[in-house]
Amino acid sequence: MKKLIIVVFALLTTVAMQAQTKVIAHRGFWDTPGSAQNSIASLVKADSIGCYGAEFDVWLTKDNQLVVNHDSSFKGHRMEKTPSSRLTKLHLSNGETLPTLEEYLTCAKELNIRLILELKKHSSDKRETQAIEQIVAMVRERGLEDRMEYITFSLHATKEFIRLAPAGTPVYNLDGKLSPQELKEMGCTGPDYHYSVFKKHPEWIQECHDLGMKTNAWTVNKEEDMQWLIDQGIDFITTDKPVRLQEILK
Ligand code: MG
Repeated sequence: MKKLIIVVFALLTTVAMQAQTKVIAHRGFWDTPGSAQNSIASLVKADSIGCYGAEFDVWLTKDNQLVVNHDSSFKGHRMEKTPSSRLTKLHLSNGETLPTLEEYLTCAKELNIRLILELKKHSSDKRETQAIEQIVAMVRERGLEDRMEYITFSLHATKEFIRLAPAGTPVYNLDGKLSPQELKEMGCTGPDYHYSVFKKHPEWIQECHDLGMKTNAWTVNKEEDMQWLIDQGIDFITTDKPVRLQEILK
């Protein structure tokens, strides 16, 4: 019996040590020919190289439509102050038009990659809640609930994703200010923080694991930072260089 326990323990330790850091393509896999940040192509390309997830950014437009874009404005048009009909006529650097969330999810439905949706901080809590209600409904209609993870800098939106998404859906806060214990009490899946926060608090990674939480770091593009986070046992790394990170992990 004692021998069996030792064998099982050794096996479990091996499995735990092999739990490998997973790769999330920041704004999709955009740093490659034919792609652009937050484009449909970047989603398809991130899937094609076998990333765990594609991260992308979402805004609610003036007419309450959801679109995919990083900055609060694009080519002089403010996301929250412009109707979607105008925004979706604008072209990305790869020639695609600025995608709606609906187009993005429709494409994702045919792929396997996980969808790391960042809701940007909006002009009011009310608009963030409205955006989240619409996101959750759209995801449910497409049967994509099992492939979604939500991230946001907004504390309000973090709480609203936890309240409105199906139980068990991963929700991470990006802001870097809350301790593992504070995130746990809120019901967060864990921190998705700038890597400098983990360099300042390297003990937070183990602390999160002890609390049953996951850890993600952004936006990690230097090999030395990737290696340091891997050595610390980080669960996910969000990067503009997914191929380089995959090579390091091999
Ligand atoms: Mg983002």
